[in-house]
Amino acid sequence: MSNLKPNILLIYTGGTIGMIKDAKTNSLHPFNFENLLEQLPELDLLDCRIETISFPIPIDSSAMTPKDWIAIAEIIETHYIHYDGFVVLHGSDTMSYTASGLSFMLENLEKPVILTGSQLPIGDLRTDAKENLITSIQIAALQKEGVAVVQEVCLYFEYKLYRGNRTTKVNAEHFKAFNTPNYPCLAESGVHLKLNSSFLLKPEVSGPFRVHKILDENIVLIKLYPGITETYMHAILEIPNLKAVVLETFGSGNCSTADWFLSLLKTLVARQIHVINVTQCIAGRVEMGQYETSMALEKVGVLSGKNITTEAALAKLMYLLGKSFSYKALKMNFEIPIRGEMN
Ligand code: ASP
Repeated sequence: MSNLKPNILLIYTGGTIGMIKDAKTNSLHPFNFENLLEQLPELDLLDCRIETISFPIPIDSSAMTPKDWIAIAEIIETHYIHYDGFVVLHGSDTMSYTASGLSFMLENLEKPVILTGSQLPIGDLRTDAKENLITSIQIAALQKEGVAVVQEVCLYFEYKLYRGNRTTKVNAEHFKAFNTPNYPCLAESGVHLKLNSSFLLKPEVSGPFRVHKILDENIVLIKLYPGITETYMHAILEIPNLKAVVLETFGSGNCSTADWFLSLLKTLVARQIHVINVTQCIAGRVEMGQYETSMALEKVGVLSGKNITTEAALAKLMYLLGKSFSYKALKMNFEIPIRGEMN
């Protein structure tokens, strides 16, 4: 056990936290990281050493792509052995997608990776950025007998620490912008920082830390709605090189049983295109077979996403497809929780 202060790397990617208002248009745009740190002299008071690194051009997270997830993962990979924890400053809009992507890409992770951001820029008088950033750093620096307390990809926002791949952005306005309806929060910050230790991921480390950088984006997301047309579904079938479909169904995984709809799904499965059933409800799980309407899906070979979020389902598919598994092996791997993303 060492007496040294933990070393934390702060990775700035952009987002509202570091934005300023354009005087002419009044719209928010990302600005330079050094200006952000000037707004936070409190960081010097924390009981850890903080170093920073920034995307060359900080971006609004709505412009993020899996290539940017890879860029973040590469920064963590390069600096992994030199730091005890990582805090990623990121826009809130797609933070759940990035957190999900990173959770799969970072294998044998034994250090905290905490994503955070804010609803108001750090320079704003009523900003939520300071608490989010300061507590994220404190969590990233938490150690017990020289070992990191948190050893997974998390998201911290408005007094709560969540498992990253369980989160969804649920509010565009409130400071409490995220939720994990199917998994308890991992920690809560009040007068004391209360950890829900029993819910933290206990990684089964099977080798050295490893970053997976091949993500296959040949997938689509279809949200069902009453009135969805055959023409629309057919157009999707025509997409070249399509490998998987995430189907956001109703309730506990139900859908139309119209002949044209089921036969389209059958064609997809026959072409070895994976179809994953996730619910468009914010909480609860897919239970194929509970109703006749979902039994039909099971029969045509659609896979149950159980209680995975859409964000995590997309990221998990990109990750698994990137590994060039056989059709059967990918199916098997999708159904097993690999980073605590479903149960
Ligand atoms: N549009 C911003 C972003 O996601 C919103 C935010 O940071 O909260 O980058």
